[in-house]
Amino acid sequence: MKSIFLDSHSTTPVDPRVWKVIKPYFSKYYYNPASLHFGGEKITHDIENARCQVASIIKAKPDDVYFTNSATEANNIVLKGIVKHFSNKDNRVPIVITSNVEHSSIIETLKAIHKDKVVSHIELKVNRLGIIDYKELEKILDKLKNLPILVSIIAANNEIGTIANIDLIGQICKRYNALFHTDVTQAIGRVDIDVEKHNIFALTCSGHKIYSIKGCGVLYIKDHKKVEPIIDGGYQNILSSGTINVPAVIGIGKACEILRMEGKAENERLGKLRDLLWEYLYHSIPRVFVNGDINNRLPHNLNITIPGVKSEVFIKGLNDIMISGGSACQSGNIEPSHVIKAIGAPYPECAIRFGISRYTTKRQIKYVSKRIMKIYENVY
Ligand code: PMP
Repeated sequence: MKSIFLDSHSTTPVDPRVWKVIKPYFSKYYYNPASLHFGGEKITHDIENARCQVASIIKAKPDDVYFTNSATEANNIVLKGIVKHFSNKDNRVPIVITSNVEHSSIIETLKAIHKDKVVSHIELKVNRLGIIDYKELEKILDKLKNLPILVSIIAANNEIGTIANIDLIGQICKRYNALFHTDVTQAIGRVDIDVEKHNIFALTCSGHKIYSIKGCGVLYIKDHKKVEPIIDGGYQNILSSGTINVPAVIGIGKACEILRMEGKAENERLGKLRDLLWEYLYHSIPRVFVNGDINNRLPHNLNITIPGVKSEVFIKGLNDIMISGGSACQSGNIEPSHVIKAIGAPYPECAIRFGISRYTTKRQIKYVSKRIMKIYENVY
């Protein structure tokens, strides 16, 4: 059997339909959208089309959608740009409220700006399933009334797949006049997102997690005047400087369109494969348990712990199957994942994550479970 990729939360292969539409932009339509000639005009027109495709899946106005070079960059712009706006505008130190299971691009960015004392940070702890206490959020906002606040909560966790109630968070933020940012990098196309309905002020995601190429993120901002650019020197994009990565932008547009049209059916299929994988493992491995909430999670995510077998035993032992332990952004670093630690799951060093892909088959799932079982038997 050919190698099997079950690491879809780290990245995804390019969908052939996406590849087909972006290919000409590498060679035939290589023009710079900033050029005033007809070549530039065509590219500008095509970028606007991609913007509409992205806007459509999150039910936003196209004018509020910006392209960045990654979700990491988009998260940096949200945090640093809003903080900069508040401190420049009225000399106030804004408060950022996050959870303790955010992606490292939020955690590390906050650490960096916190050092400069330009922001206060409150971190909410999640429960055993990976969910914040919504009542606690409300209490904190009530206490901090009238202060500049940004609430940044991940929509679906990249490690354990837990889905946050973004509708409820949005409503709470609205009640207390706080800005709400959510990182939907893993959630887009998997859960319903409606920026108006959920009172989302800022939203971020990435192309290479949804079957497009690497090098493009999306930043939705309801009011870009509340966010200052963090990189200067040419605002093709208002908030993210530098010449636009045209093929990647065209690609993310197409990827969003595919998800909008086919996401629902795909999620059902992915969910069935994930449940099948869990069923096989549950029935063959004693003491195995799920990290996160088996019912309220991304359809393509399974994160389990097999007590007594470290994740790297599986990752290295499966030489034809790609899975992961902690998040891929930390791979190479064997530290147990901060998310697994945050939910208080035992044996954090033994957690493994499967990210089922658009191209995963039932046969592959069966094969993977047999291979996991074999490694387990070799250890015990
Ligand atoms: N946020 C989340 C939830 C992610 O999973 C990732 C990628 N692991 C990122 C942000 C960063 O995405 P990018 O690779 O586009 O910087």
